Amino acid sequence: MKAVGINGYGTIGKRVADAVAAQDDMKIAGVTKRTPNFEAKRAVELGYDIYMSAPDRENLFEEAEIPVKGTIDELYDKIDIMVDCTPGGVGAKNKEIYEKMGVKGIFQGGEKHDQIGKSFNSFSNFNDALGADYVRVVSCNTTGLCRTLNPIKELGGIKKVRAVMVRRGADPGQVKKGPINSIVPNPPTVPSHHGPDVQTVMYGLNITTMAILVPTTLMHQHNLMVELESDVSIDDVVETFEKTPRVILVDASRGLGSTAEIMEYAKDLGRPRGDLFEIAVWRESLNIVDNELYYMQAIHQESDVVPENVDAIRAMLEMETNSEKSIARTNKNIGIIG
Ligand code: NAD
Repeated sequence: MKAVGINGYGTIGKRVADAVAAQDDMKIAGVTKRTPNFEAKRAVELGYDIYMSAPDRENLFEEAEIPVKGTIDELYDKIDIMVDCTPGGVGAKNKEIYEKMGVKGIFQGGEKHDQIGKSFNSFSNFNDALGADYVRVVSCNTTGLCRTLNPIKELGGIKKVRAVMVRRGADPGQVKKGPINSIVPNPPTVPSHHGPDVQTVMYGLNITTMAILVPTTLMHQHNLMVELESDVSIDDVVETFEKTPRVILVDASRGLGSTAEIMEYAKDLGRPRGDLFEIAVWRESLNIVDNELYYMQAIHQESDVVPENVDAIRAMLEMETNSEKSIARTNKNIGIIG
């Protein structure tokens, strides 16, 4: 059993912790908290040991009657790897500490590729993370793009990708972010950073992206145009997506015509927190015109990167050298259907 630490127990961190705990070859040795909030209380109830990332705040934990095991410095000795889920920009600073402590680290999409040195997606470049010390799991949007572009590349070869991303303004629990009544080109420049981010794991892919922010919290929505190198049919694409793990086809005609209904479906599946780890592609959106494939997809930003973090742990600790086996094992243990 490999021991995993989680530094930053927020939206992503708490989900990665539960996904790691659900595996049969790794366990959570501890999670860090800065603030003794409801998430800290819940972590204790779930059986996770809490280590303080800001030890000068110990009195706050005492006042809140939330037991702590120690400080983050005491956690390093107990782990084989740290999954850093701190806010964007903090992770790159933490990397220097992990290096000093001799601990491997996984970072999230809020960090810059260059500062971590290697980016990761289970379907794009699993082998490049084998034995690696520091790896960044690409962002939720980039993970969504890679999940569907990889199988299409294998099916028909890709000449060129153009994608427009409609991004959620905030996560559901965020009360201080927006917009609440506006459509915001974000970034207002073209290309957005998402295309270059895809290229950090799908090397040499010709892709240009644009993105806007809208007042919704539920999911991101992507619109893709993919010029193919060879003749493929819509049936070929359907068959490919049907057999691609972590991708599901959804039918607008069956009541899944919006991100709201897809999130409702995830709740009906009994997923913890109503998460949807899979990328949902609208079947009706699939079309091919002059060898160019069009489709639309929805991404649950709070959870799609979670299984990738588990696979990254396996690759970096060389617990599994075969990406398909790791993906299947992760999926089985967290109940992924697609
Ligand atoms: P979050 O704000 O929900 O959680 C971050 C946690 O880290 C909080 O519990 C916070 O208290 C803690 N923290 C803050 N500073 C810390 C420090 N110095 N040391 C230790 N802990 C600290 O953030 P999040 O949404 O989970 O994002 C984490 C990372 O994941 C970011 O890089 C983000 O870009 C990336 N990401 C977020 C999403 C998403 O939709 N939320 C999706 C994919 C990737």
